[in-house]
Amino acid sequence: MSTRAERLSDALAGAELDLLLVTNLVHVRYLTGFTGSSGLVLIGPDLRLFVTDFRYTEQAQEEVHAEFERLTASGGLLEEATERLPDGPLRLGYESETMTVEGYRQARELIPEPVELVAATGLVERLRRVKGEDELELITAAQRIADAALEALLAGGLEGRTERELALALEHDMRLRGADGPSFATIIAGGAHGALPHATPREVPLQRGQMVVIDWGATYRGYASDCTRTVAVGEPGPEAREVYELVLGAQQAGLDAIRAGGDGREIDRVVRDIIYGAGHEGHYGHGLGHGVGLEIHEAPWLSFRGQDVLEAGNVVTVEPGVYLPGRFGIRIEDLVVVTDDGCRILTTIPKSLRIVH
Ligand code: ZN
Ligand code: ZN
Repeated sequence: MSTRAERLSDALAGAELDLLLVTNLVHVRYLTGFTGSSGLVLIGPDLRLFVTDFRYTEQAQEEVHAEFERLTASGGLLEEATERLPDGPLRLGYESETMTVEGYRQARELIPEPVELVAATGLVERLRRVKGEDELELITAAQRIADAALEALLAGGLEGRTERELALALEHDMRLRGADGPSFATIIAGGAHGALPHATPREVPLQRGQMVVIDWGATYRGYASDCTRTVAVGEPGPEAREVYELVLGAQQAGLDAIRAGGDGREIDRVVRDIIYGAGHEGHYGHGLGHGVGLEIHEAPWLSFRGQDVLEAGNVVTVEPGVYLPGRFGIRIEDLVVVTDDGCRILTTIPKSLRIVH
């Protein structure tokens, strides 16, 4: 079994690069295991170099995989790394999606002219799409923590408690259960507020008869989970029930369409056709789903804008919604692992409409 660094190194030739300078800290973590906030990697067929600063020397000794040479920079990290570049002309890739304009300016100043700086995108992202068993275990653990915290929250009842108070309680509970923290800012949105897909919890108490959108996740040892459930506080009435069943059916159709080799845009369309066909064109404007891993939103994408093809080992969300401005919103989201002939759902919370007090 090759290491992540070896797989990245193998991919460089295809991108016509001799070396890659990795400055995105998520990628540094993925490749080396380093969790600190100051580090970079220089990688090539015969080079595995990790550079950090004084604050992290000891942490790097513990965390960074032994295949990397570990250096503590006396000045700037890039300056230190530059000194280790082989002589002569070469094509050095840099991560142009995350390197700042100032970072690029410094790199050009520090790195001698025969070295060509080449904008490289997607190399580490490509590797990150397919999760290893170790990563699947961490994502599953993150989802379990999130699920358990939601069950505990719902058991305590929602009526009369503010969105903000509930969001805080959920996040606190996830930490108590072992999470590093929430994987993104928790969304708890009742009634008309739920029609905003990315609502921020307010100091407003939830009331009887409201649908409540709850979108939350935990990060566990760096890996995120993501799930949405929409519950009713007391009886929500026939229209909300009808829309709920529509979204639930559409979400199930999305899950049924997922498999390795599936086209993200086509899977999105299967679900979109159901929702638009029921008269809700204009009430569902976001993509169907996204990859989840070290980041809460990462490749591959299930979207009308995307062109990703699914592979076994991808972890993606399936999260259609219907948003009726001024009235209510309903979204249902599961986190799944793509398999050769379908998918394995990581979320354990039931999806039939749940009436809570
Ligand atoms: Zn979500
Ligand atoms: Zn999501």
